[in-house]
Amino acid sequence: MRNQARQRPTLEVSSLLKEEDVAHRFRSLSVWRKAGQRAPHKPLLCLLAISELFTENQRLVPFDKIQNPLRRLLTEFGPPRKVCHPEYPFWALQSEKGIWEVRSALSTLRPGNGYPSRRALLSSKAQGGFQEDVYNELRQNDELRAKVIDTLLQSHFPETLHEDILLSLGLVIPSGMQRSNNRDPEFREMVLSAYEYRCAVCGFNVRIGHVPIALEAAHIKWHQAAGPDIRENGLALCSLHHKLFDRGAFTINQAGCVLISEKAYGSEGFVENLGRFHKKPLLKPNRDSYMPKVDYTKWHTEQVFLAPARE
Ligand SMILES: [Zn+2]
Repeated sequence: MRNQARQRPTLEVSSLLKEEDVAHRFRSLSVWRKAGQRAPHKPLLCLLAISELFTENQRLVPFDKIQNPLRRLLTEFGPPRKVCHPEYPFWALQSEKGIWEVRSALSTLRPGNGYPSRRALLSSKAQGGFQEDVYNELRQNDELRAKVIDTLLQSHFPETLHEDILLSLGLVIPSGMQRSNNRDPEFREMVLSAYEYRCAVCGFNVRIGHVPIALEAAHIKWHQAAGPDIRENGLALCSLHHKLFDRGAFTINQAGCVLISEKAYGSEGFVENLGRFHKKPLLKPNRDSYMPKVDYTKWHTEQVFLAPARE
């Protein structure tokens, strides 16, 4: 009896340490941000692999099975690129400490030998998956799994995209879970007051009492891409325009006008809510010095906007 009592806390401590160790590996996931380029490929692969944990019921999944869903995710939530390479994150995630492994029959396919082609991964029947301890922890520990999903979302994507990413993967974060929050209330207040509590695109402003409703402070260059919390990197946007902006349906050109993507279209409500603002100037903030800075709008146009713009 005495032995058991003594053992239990030790076991609990060691499992907490293990949990923290696994969570830490995902927190320190490095992403390639050369010259401010977005590279959410590794976090998207991690999220996809977490969503596969239960459906596949196997730790290592053939590249052949992962490539198409990964390509879809990269196209939908990655930066706009002409060609999409699911083989890059599949291979590169191995270099992160203690997260991922790739196994293949081909002896030349080894970490450090450079990137293999998609064809080499397919012909060698390469398989990839979480390392064994990570896989077991994530499968057994619901709380840890939710924490890792939250970390991956908060560190790499603005909040307006979280629900869409979760939905497209069939993942859920338990509703009672305390989510981390990197919103800065000061930034919100600074930006909303600079635009006098109106959406900079459509002018929307509705208050209940003194509280503005469905009006948000958007980062032009995302907080996750090290965009600063200053007025020149902010826009007051209604919830609808905030989401459309973060999804790349429109951007802001150097003259401060709205440009709408050719890839965004629709019927009911499209013209009223979006189409009619094409090439129209944004509402001006109450000081010229608060105008969006070109450094940030340029980043948005290159890294988020779904080019090309409409005619
Ligand atoms: Zn609006």
